[in-house]
Amino acid sequence: MRILIMADMEGVAGITRWDQVNYNAPRYEEGRRLYTEEISAAARGAFAAGATRVVAVDCHGAGGDGTFNSWVPELLHDDLEWVTGHEWGRYVEIFEDGCDAALMVGMHARSNTPDGVMCHTISTTTWRRVMFNDDEVGEFGINAALCGHYGVPVVLITGDTATCREGVELLGDGLHTVAVKHGLTRYSARHFSPAKARTMIEEGTKKALTSPIKTKPYVPAKPTTITIDLSTADTANRFMGRTGVELTGPLEVKSKADDWMTAWDQFWPY
Ligand SMILES: [Zn+2]
Repeated sequence: MRILIMADMEGVAGITRWDQVNYNAPRYEEGRRLYTEEISAAARGAFAAGATRVVAVDCHGAGGDGTFNSWVPELLHDDLEWVTGHEWGRYVEIFEDGCDAALMVGMHARSNTPDGVMCHTISTTTWRRVMFNDDEVGEFGINAALCGHYGVPVVLITGDTATCREGVELLGDGLHTVAVKHGLTRYSARHFSPAKARTMIEEGTKKALTSPIKTKPYVPAKPTTITIDLSTADTANRFMGRTGVELTGPLEVKSKADDWMTAWDQFWPY
């Protein structure tokens, strides 16, 4: 069994503030240790469930040298293979090698989720809403669609309660969830201890990978329209002049194509 872990930092227990997740911010060292340990916990669960190969991808853009490169290497599980420094949403090697299921660890909720700790979608300031046809999605949905394009189901999501709820809304009750904290506002939460969160992730992963898979690969209906609502008109300029991409209003962008991957490729990276 070959497993992909797509990882982000904002959904880790103990993290509520940007200064824990931005490169070289005062509490970044603390944040990256908490982050790394949760990834190792997921790897322990995956290997305990019988995984023969586990590859984790750091999807957290911390800025500076920390962009997609926030893990503390010596804290990572010994048998885990890990990817750093790769463009967001572009690591597909494992899909071509063969992958049976994906886990999403440390995820955060989409933009404008009142109880979503540090919620955002792609940009903390400019992307207000993203739709794949009629599905409102966040980064979880985008990652799930990338996996879905290669026929890989997502079986587990971890993060705060709001993020887990968002995952189940998109993929249904068959998605295993581990909520390691409960958001009270965008920057406050009630957390489990790091140790407890890691145990929950390890056990949740093991359960997700030893149970029959009940989630389907997420493939938005074809043809596919991706709609992005922006917060500021100047951001729209970045989408101009791209084949298949239309500015349908001062703050609205649409990308239409025969399938999701093509529609996404038409503007990403933007
Ligand atoms: Zn992040």
